[in-house]
Parts: sequence; C-alpha cells; structure tokens
Amino acid sequence: MKRRKFLKNSAIGSAGMLSAPIIASCNETSKTTPLKEEGVKIKPLVVATWNVPNATASAWGVLNAGGNALDAVEKGVMEEEVDVSNQSVGKGGRPDRDGNVTLDACIMDKNGECGSVVYLQNITHAISVARKVMEDTPHVMLAGLGAEQFAYEKGFPKEELLTEKSKQDWLEWKKTSKYEPIINIENHDTIGMLAIDKNGDISGACTTSGMAYKIGGRVGDSPIIGSGLFVDNEIGGATATGVGEEVVKTVGSFLIVELMRQGKSPQEACEEAVNRIVSKNNNYKNFQVGYLAINKKGETGSYCIQSGFTYRKYSEEGHINIPSGSFIPS
Ligand code: ASP
Repeated sequence: MKRRKFLKNSAIGSAGMLSAPIIASCNETSKTTPLKEEGVKIKPLVVATWNVPNATASAWGVLNAGGNALDAVEKGVMEEEVDVSNQSVGKGGRPDRDGNVTLDACIMDKNGECGSVVYLQNITHAISVARKVMEDTPHVMLAGLGAEQFAYEKGFPKEELLTEKSKQDWLEWKKTSKYEPIINIENHDTIGMLAIDKNGDISGACTTSGMAYKIGGRVGDSPIIGSGLFVDNEIGGATATGVGEEVVKTVGSFLIVELMRQGKSPQEACEEAVNRIVSKNNNYKNFQVGYLAINKKGETGSYCIQSGFTYRKYSEEGHINIPSGSFIPS
C-alpha cells in the first residue's frame, strides 16, 4: 500500500479524532517552491560527498533530462553501491569484525517523506530498498532480517557482498583486531548526495557499509534521518560522512538545515555543526566528520574536521571536485 494512501486511510479511520483542517493539511501535496513563485531562475544541481564523478554524472543525467531530484539521487548513489572497487559503500564494502557486510542507507524527498534501512545484508542497492520503505510501507525504518525479507518480497536479488579484496583486508585486520577508524580512507567513504531539480525541489540520499570492522549490529549516522541526512524542501538539505557516532550525538544534518533556516549560508551552517562536535570532544584530532549542504537558492557549502574531505558538484556550470575547508588546517 502506498504510504500516502495508508495515511489517508488512517485519517479516515480516526475521523472522529481529527478536526477538518488537520485532515485537509494531511492531504496537501508539496508546496510550490517560493523561488519559482518569485520568478527566480532555478538551476538544477547535484552534489555528493567525496570525489565520485560516476555518481554525480549519473544523477546529473536524470536532472538534465528533466527528471526529478528523488530519481537523481537514487540513481546517483547506486553507482557507488554497485562499484566493488569502492570499499565503503554497497557491494564490496568492508565487513564488520565478524566478516559480515552490513549496509545502512536512507532517502528523503521534497515532501519530507523518508525511508531507511539499517543492518541490511545480502542486498547491493540498500538505497532502493530504503526508497521502497518510504513509498510502499507506512514505516520509515526497517532493520536487519526484516529489511532483508522486505527486499526479497520487492524483488531484490540476494547477493554476496563480501568481495575477495574486502575479505583479504579483513583477514589482515584480524591479525591485530584493532578498531582504529582511518581518516579519509582512500579519499572515499559514505556517499551522501543532494540534488535540486528543474522545479527547484530538493531530495537527498545517503548510503554506506559503515565503519570498517565495527562490532556486529552497529549502526552509524548514515541511515538516521536528521543525522546522516536531512532535507527540508523549503530550506535546503545536508548530509554527513565520517565517524557516525559523533554525527548522531549532535544530530548534524538536521542541525545544519535548522541553522540555514535561521539565515546561515550552507557554508556557515556546516562550519557551526563541525564546531559543535569539536567543542564537545577533546579527541577530535583523531577522527573525521565532513558535512555537505545546499540551500534552496542552489548555494553549497562543506566543512570537515581533518583536511582531505572533498565534494563533487555537477551543474550547468560544469562538473568539479571541490576541496572542503577544515577545522584543522592542512
Ligand atoms: N558515517 C559512516 C558511519 O558512521 C561511515 C563513514 O562515513 O565513513 O557509518
């Protein structure tokens, strides 16, 4: 059952409890973007954490053909999920300490609808399962075996996610078994993507295999709405990469969107969110967190703790990799 229909039925089912104006607002579709009403020319764009040209090119293909931001971000991050040379997302991701590859992902659309999967095994395209959770269920988040079973019901194939390369790396790691997250590993990590389409509508997606060699069952920030990703179509969107525990503790992406609501630029908002983590944590020199944000006007910003984080941007103006400013200078 489509979520919208479920909500509508729920509203009818409890009609006695709801006043007429509340029912009316439940049935509203997305608001027209204020920029469009003001006659501002909307320029589609997509940004993604790290230097992921295949992902941003794929998303731009959707936007450039007039497609919507939700389809763009899903298609974009799928490029990384299926790329086995990328050992931090999807198939080929590094496993947990027991050798199991477990994926986390979430997606959020222009209406504030969202879907998420955590601790998902044996399915490459975690982001598409998250989208199905959003669109085909009354829930926001499915975990573990339930998420996996749901994916099979939706026709996703069962796949081995542990590649020989990631297996060999894990066996090597087991010789010492030290959990020490590596900063800016291979200049790639979680992929968080934000896009604006030709209507000025914003969507976002975030997908990861999580921290390498984590304890089995660990879930990071990436599938947590408000932490690894947040979109408010009236304001903008934000996404995160790095040590998820630190992002969760400060609800980083939601914080950034709320700071933009108060008037900060995406850049200023990302800087304040990083400062919030640093000011609460004496150990900040030993881990990385990077944020990326866009606002409704198509302005972008990013900031991180350690230097080395970059983001990729594709718009009419070109396809570029942009180094992020950092709290600790390079
Ligand atoms: N944020 C991800 C997590 O904590 C990992 C990463 O970005 O490296 O699971």
